[in-house]
Amino acid sequence: MSSSASPRYDLVVIGSGPGGQKAAIAAAKLGKSVAIVERKHMLGGVCLNTGTIPSKTLREAVLYLTGMNQRELYGASYRVKSNITPEDLFARTAQVIGKETEVVRSQLQRNRVEIFPGVASFVDEHTVEVVDDDRGESTRLHGEFFVIATGTRPARLPGVNYDEERILDSDEILQLKAIPATMVVVGAGVIGIEYASMFAALGTRVTVVERRPSMLEFCDPEVIEALRFHLRDLAVTFRFGEEVTDIEVGPNGAVTKLASGKRIPAETVMYSAGRQGQTEALALENAGLSADDRGRIQVDKHFQTAVDHIYAVGDVIGFPALAATSMDQGRLAAYHAFGESAEGMTELQPIGIYSIPEVSYVGATETELTKAAVPYEVGVSRYRELARGQIAGDSYGMLKLLVNTDDRKLLGVHIFGSQATELVHIGQAVMGCGGTVDYLIEAVFNYPTLSEAYKVAALDVANKIRALAQYCD
Ligand SMILES: Cc1cc2nc3c(=O)[nH]c(=O)nc-3n(C[C@H](O)[C@H](O)[C@H](O)COP(=O)(O)OP(=O)(O)OC[C@H]3O[C@@H](n4cnc5c(N)ncnc54)[C@H](O)[C@@H]3O)c2cc1C
Repeated sequence: MSSSASPRYDLVVIGSGPGGQKAAIAAAKLGKSVAIVERKHMLGGVCLNTGTIPSKTLREAVLYLTGMNQRELYGASYRVKSNITPEDLFARTAQVIGKETEVVRSQLQRNRVEIFPGVASFVDEHTVEVVDDDRGESTRLHGEFFVIATGTRPARLPGVNYDEERILDSDEILQLKAIPATMVVVGAGVIGIEYASMFAALGTRVTVVERRPSMLEFCDPEVIEALRFHLRDLAVTFRFGEEVTDIEVGPNGAVTKLASGKRIPAETVMYSAGRQGQTEALALENAGLSADDRGRIQVDKHFQTAVDHIYAVGDVIGFPALAATSMDQGRLAAYHAFGESAEGMTELQPIGIYSIPEVSYVGATETELTKAAVPYEVGVSRYRELARGQIAGDSYGMLKLLVNTDDRKLLGVHIFGSQATELVHIGQAVMGCGGTVDYLIEAVFNYPTLSEAYKVAALDVANKIRALAQYCD
């Protein structure tokens, strides 16, 4: 393996997912010299290659080919294609990944960020070694500052043979050879529920096994109840409060064994119970750093690690582990390193779950407001009462506003149904500007739109607050 002299950079970024990319670009825009290290064929990170982008593209392909969203209008048997194959689904994924990779590469190149393919590990606190196994090369990079943005990989159940055919994780699911007739999804977190929805929409009989007594408990309970109802309607079975002890592979499928003694046969098992920080290869100890037992690196509010000139951002630092937050963390870390002032991370962050139907919210939940003894009232709008809801064939969607009854400020928005992840930003903007429900009452919305749900829900909540005032007088 050959080795060359160490080029020097103001910033060396490890990992080119959303956090690393935005840290690199932000530093480059400040006129700094920047290098970014990424494994071969992984430019754009987990986000672009195995996580957000492929899963969301797959979802679009599923919705389109199954004709799922049109069935209220054209009948239960409506399909765009009757025998959907993995090739049909993955063709679209490959196309989007290819195009997006070029967008990322071009953006880095335009900003003169040097891309080093390979795996980085610390030699000392100002030097990393990049090993490119394919080319048999190793390069040492000297950095004034570092941003570690190495993300996570799927966690695995010890002792289970992940054979990439019967037992898969969320990375391997993208290489599936056939759409299974039956499937067990272990873990009812966001990733598990998103994939359970997609396979259920494809006609797979899915069983979701979850150790906790319920799912997605950070969301509005009414919304999650609606989601569970819909998934059950798509033949999803839920096994809550159940622990998986073992998965046994046979010639035709796998048997998932639960601590309660139940055994669930299925053609395929997708294990999606947690993720592990990708820190093993980094030789953190050479830089005076360490990771916890889940591979995560601890940082302060500026994303600085225990070593001041080394920052860490994105999934490798843990919650909330989302692409959108990772991007902002990267930008803020670079700004902090180079003394550029910034407001810091806003507390108002939307959550989007691309289940079928989708779920999104911003701000407080009813549980949080009740716990904090904040007086609030709820306004609800149902898509079936909106002209656009009828046109779109979405009779189940709903939008819920939580409004402070004292000062009428918007405290939370919870949406279930078509376009939830887009619509949530209207509420986010109003809340970000400290707006009240009166803005939504006065505003004129395009008609017919789903956005009109805001106005309907705002009027609903205003009527309830008025009734409260009348009863109090
Ligand atoms: C199936 C799935 C669906 C998701 N859906 C969504 C969604 O809908 N919305 C959303 O906001 N988020 C979603 N996420 C989460 C989102 O993908 C992550 O929050 C985001 O990718 C984290 O970005 P990151 O900057 O931490 O880097 P990552 O995207 O995790 O990338 C890290 C990169 O670092 C590289 N790396 C690691 N170690 C080294 C090393 N030693 N040397 C060189 N390179 C290294 C890796 O190869 C990898 O490419 C999803 C995740 C998954 C798995």
